[in-house]
Amino acid sequence: MIDIKIERTTAPKQKPDQSKLGFGNYFTDHMFVMNYTEGEGWHDARVIPYQNFSLSPAAMVFHYAQEMFEGLKAYKTPDGHVQLFRPQKNIERMNNTNLRMCIPQVDPDDVLTAIKTLVSVDKDWVPENEGTSLYIRPFIFATDAHLGVHVAKTYIFCIILSPVGSYYPEGINPVKIFIETEYVRAVKGGTGYAKVGGNYAASLIGQEKAEKLGYAQVLWLDGIEHKYIDEVGAMNVFFVIDGEVITPTLETGSILPGVTRASCIDLLRSWGYKVTERRLAVDEVIAAQKAGKLDEAFGTGTAAVISPIGELNDDGDKMIVNGGKIGPISQKLYDNLTGIQWGRLEDKLGWTVKVD
Ligand SMILES: *Cc1c(COP(=O)(O)O)cnc(C)c1O
Repeated sequence: MIDIKIERTTAPKQKPDQSKLGFGNYFTDHMFVMNYTEGEGWHDARVIPYQNFSLSPAAMVFHYAQEMFEGLKAYKTPDGHVQLFRPQKNIERMNNTNLRMCIPQVDPDDVLTAIKTLVSVDKDWVPENEGTSLYIRPFIFATDAHLGVHVAKTYIFCIILSPVGSYYPEGINPVKIFIETEYVRAVKGGTGYAKVGGNYAASLIGQEKAEKLGYAQVLWLDGIEHKYIDEVGAMNVFFVIDGEVITPTLETGSILPGVTRASCIDLLRSWGYKVTERRLAVDEVIAAQKAGKLDEAFGTGTAAVISPIGELNDDGDKMIVNGGKIGPISQKLYDNLTGIQWGRLEDKLGWTVKVD
């Protein structure tokens, strides 16, 4: 059992206006921190006032990016409780990422206790307006002051919290997606399946290019043949072709195994839909669209839950999906997932975990 010391702030911040939160703009009064030292393991677990770190300019994370992160949310239910959505899945993924990045493993029960303790200390920060939540960002980084390229011997594990607004303040708007054939975000054997900052750094240039062309996100293709679909932006992606729901298989190792992705697959199968996880060539999607068989396309992730795709740009050829509107499967997934997450629907699958 982890022993967490709690030091409460003496200067609580003013809380932001719940109607103007946006994403990742505000941080709560406290943070969780623990240290790792080789030979000693994780130690000094504590909740302390939100504050800056003091690190050597030679800290290894600044130079060689040995770090990882997670992202999940706490939701306020109609009866005033605060709950998490499948946090065990994030913690399991965290250790898979740690393995890939040569970062020491964390104890899953300890991490869940740390998340619950921090959210509970800052529970007044969980917003309650429609669609708002408290975003939870656990992360670990290497702190050794050393320029040699080696696995670090010291790390900091931190959790910060950010009240976030509704992703769709004006209702769900399908997004325009640019099919990226020049840059890739991940490659087999690389770190695509791990949640690490480096993957994001590698994807910025494609994202910028898409934005300049008037597109919201990039459709990422595989790093070897530039032929098979990996992800959309920083989301997993689903296509409904001729009634069948298809999502790229995780077996290539270049795709992040999303908790929302897994939950969508489970829900769809429980409703009797045929869901297939396989390699999906972008040409197959293009052919389906031309044949009028591309019923729906959508991205999935914790931030937006479901992000319908209204247009795909294939080298200048603009393909409209479902008349540019959200489709019935996307809408049903959105309603059910958000219903469970915010506690408006019965949690038949036991996915939620109460914080208080
Ligand atoms: C976090 C992330 C996702 C979505 O994962 P969820 O667990 O559903 O939030 C998808 N793709 C990438 C690249 C990610 O980093």
